[in-house]
Amino acid sequence: MKTTGIVRGIDALGRIVLPKELRTSMRLDSDAKLEIFVEGDSIILKKYRPNGSCDFCGEVDSNAVQYEGYCICSACRRKIGAL
Ligand SMILES: [Zn+2]
Repeated sequence: MKTTGIVRGIDALGRIVLPKELRTSMRLDSDAKLEIFVEGDSIILKKYRPNGSCDFCGEVDSNAVQYEGYCICSACRRKIGAL
């Protein structure tokens, strides 16, 4: 886990704002969903992906395969010419 150097406060309703640059670089649209994990004293946010959805395009594909920890749909496999 690497630090971003960003420190943000939590408002009275418990909300924090993710910096625009971070949302852009992580490809988080305004309707993106995040899954919340806890590990020790850390809170970890991960892009929410339903089971079987591609880690690259987000499409749900029953023919998706797991490779090196990534879920890759058949369309993305064709694009990269692999698997
Ligand atoms: Zn895909």
